[in-house]
Amino acid sequence: MKSFDVPIIYRSPLISAIKKKRKEIDRMKKDFTPTLLDFGPVKIYLARHFGFCYGVENAIEIAFRTVEENPGKKIYLLSEMIHNPQVNADLAAHGVKFLQDTYGKQLIPLEEVTADDIVLIPAFGTTLEMEKKLHEKGIQTESYDTTCPFVEKVWNRSESIARKNFTVVIHGKPKHEETRATFSHAAANAPSVVIRDMEEAIELAAFIRQERSVEEFYQRFHGQYSNGFDPSIHLDRIGVVNQTTMLATDTQAIADFLKKSMESRFGSENLAEHFADTRDTLCYATNDNQSAVNGMLETPADLAIVVGGYNSSNTSHLVELCEEKLPTYFINNEDKILSDKDILHYLFHSKQEVLTSNFLPAKRPLSILITSGASCPDALVEGVIRKVVGYFEGGRTVEEMIESFMVGG
Ligand code: SF4
Repeated sequence: MKSFDVPIIYRSPLISAIKKKRKEIDRMKKDFTPTLLDFGPVKIYLARHFGFCYGVENAIEIAFRTVEENPGKKIYLLSEMIHNPQVNADLAAHGVKFLQDTYGKQLIPLEEVTADDIVLIPAFGTTLEMEKKLHEKGIQTESYDTTCPFVEKVWNRSESIARKNFTVVIHGKPKHEETRATFSHAAANAPSVVIRDMEEAIELAAFIRQERSVEEFYQRFHGQYSNGFDPSIHLDRIGVVNQTTMLATDTQAIADFLKKSMESRFGSENLAEHFADTRDTLCYATNDNQSAVNGMLETPADLAIVVGGYNSSNTSHLVELCEEKLPTYFINNEDKILSDKDILHYLFHSKQEVLTSNFLPAKRPLSILITSGASCPDALVEGVIRKVVGYFEGGRTVEEMIESFMVGG
């Protein structure tokens, strides 16, 4: 895969050495076991895959290059570049201004932007409506469009589903930038509806079977269907696409469930007429990172730490997988580890940061699983490892660990 020019502050000598070594040994990415960092009194098991993905590195390279090549120009980002607070803060420190927040709330009126300014489109892509508004203002977005190719793949898939006269069912978080962009692209070609999870898939199935009224559909899926959507007609032929970062097991279960729902309404002999049987549209990073977490969870451990932005979809799914098995702490940087006793961590279900005491059990050696999301700089993971290791006396140092991976230990 292409390598990108990403600011060195995001890299980590420790993680780079580990990733390089694992890649040399397992080029085909078949081994999902974690890497053991045996510091003595604490053993850290690092997931096989984590950290910056293709789309994030591509977006960061374009954004920082744009800043460097355009001194004195006003540079705007449509919304958060990626879901990592440090990267967004670094861009803001370089003078980049954010037009919208992560939920689409306007922070700077579009009227302030002129044809002389630069507007960067984030990795999630944007809606056709926003693209049109920018073009009407004379703003050329092509050179500053960081939309991830794996997001564009979802748009292409929804287009091909639409071409065959199927309705597009988008499995994604309705307010997430990527899903809003995908919805806009899908709705331009076909009737479209967004479902968040299995609960909403089950509700949609009741409308597929025509057990609930059209009025109820409009109420239940308010804000999640395209203009002119008529559930009495448009749920006769459906195809499913996914936000790229959903949980793989949910994605499969939802597609299977909807397929069965269509089969029970129309009969298995007519299924191909009513259900576009396509593969999911999760991206490679989502699949690799979730498989790596599943591999990591086969190792018995005392706790897990997941590092990433709190509004990061892919990171929250890694947390979800870990917390089913063991105590899990979701933090966005090492500063959240306040001491060897206290940690401030995020509960993504209730969307709040809480303090937990005595998070490090007294047992020795202690085993900790660590991973991070696709928008998290490796430097932050190294920061977390250094902080944790610093609480344990008498073991190997991080520098010794780096050395061992450099020389093949
Ligand atoms: S998580 Fe996947 S879709 Fe999102 S930016 Fe990374 S590679 Fe692209």
